[in-house]
Amino acid sequence: MSYKLTLIPGDGIGPEVTDATVKCIEALGVDIEWERVIAGECALEKYGKLLPDEALESIRKNKIALKGPITTPVGKGFRSVNVAIRQLLELYVCMRPVKSFGVPTTFHEDVDIVIMRENTEDLYAGIEFPENAPETNKLIEDINAISEKKIRKGSAISIKPISKFASERIARFAFEYAIKNNRKKVSCIHKANIMKHTDGLFLHTFYEVAKEYEGKVEAEDVIVDNLSMQLTKRPKFFDILVLPNLYGDIISDLGAGLIGGLGLAAGANIGDTMAVFEPTHGSAPKYAGKNKVNPIATILSASLMLKHLGENDKAEILEQAVEDIIRENTSVTYDLKPDRDDPTAVGTKEITLAIIKRIKELQK
Ligand code: NAD
Repeated sequence: MSYKLTLIPGDGIGPEVTDATVKCIEALGVDIEWERVIAGECALEKYGKLLPDEALESIRKNKIALKGPITTPVGKGFRSVNVAIRQLLELYVCMRPVKSFGVPTTFHEDVDIVIMRENTEDLYAGIEFPENAPETNKLIEDINAISEKKIRKGSAISIKPISKFASERIARFAFEYAIKNNRKKVSCIHKANIMKHTDGLFLHTFYEVAKEYEGKVEAEDVIVDNLSMQLTKRPKFFDILVLPNLYGDIISDLGAGLIGGLGLAAGANIGDTMAVFEPTHGSAPKYAGKNKVNPIATILSASLMLKHLGENDKAEILEQAVEDIIRENTSVTYDLKPDRDDPTAVGTKEITLAIIKRIKELQK
């Protein structure tokens, strides 16, 4: 079968890791015609926009995209293009598998968790008010008039919206995924002991949905700070985690650390009709163009994409090739070596060639 899919190389290390991934897919023999579109700082010059309509239209048309990371300056300037893509296309699930591949520096073997992060709400909704702006001062006055607890004058404010609608669809997605993938348990992660209304709603909605799966999938809840400790001590205890947006973001990086770092952490943003596959890591600008970083997180994101397309055999070969190269530990990038300055570490291009060679051996 042949496919037409969108490719957004991104910026920083994005073009290098997406280029590596496209080459691995070619080696697998999957027939994909890529429609290349740009977003991020590189799109500003050409379109005067960070997220050009062409990029969104291409994803809407092709339904599936592979995307490299895109830089977001901290604090000032534009809001994240990455977050905008997820919100504008209603890609309400950010799925991030956390699976051991035998990296020698990790403390735990056999980690196999899937993170389901809610992608559209929470403190990521982007509803923010800067310090000392007239609308912020007005908001503070209004809130202080109706709330027992007072907000200090001159504060900046970020709003944390959590709805029953969004909580229900992410919980249902997690349980349905559990059934389809023979997973046993879904854990709802929250801080409802403190945020009784927002996280409380997320938690109560989770248990309402869980009732529909009673006897088929176990349901439990864990407070996010406790989860952080439990994950580092006994990750094997967990199966699927479903989290509001911000905790999902942070726990994804913790998960990446458990399996050997951001260089291995794949991701998929999924909605009802569209999906964008991208690594968990960012654009690591200091390594851009240096043939240094690990392309595996993007390659494994492509493996999720192949499964989404129904190309399960090809996805398995790709994962096997990646796992073999990681376990051999000879042709791997610096981040997979016990010593980060190990002179035997190879570059992005060399690890890609090693994976392609292994793909071809596995296909013989
Ligand atoms: P980052 O993930 O880009 O990099 C942090 C560190 O992790 C790097 O310095 C590097 O040591 C390591 N690292 C990351 N990817 C690696 C790889 N493939 N191989 C080896 N090592 C790797 O995080 P950051 O520095 O906080 O963010 C840089 C920019 O990326 C920011 O503008 C941020 O907003 C953006 N960002 C984008 C996305 C996205 O596009 N989805 C996600 C996260 C961050």
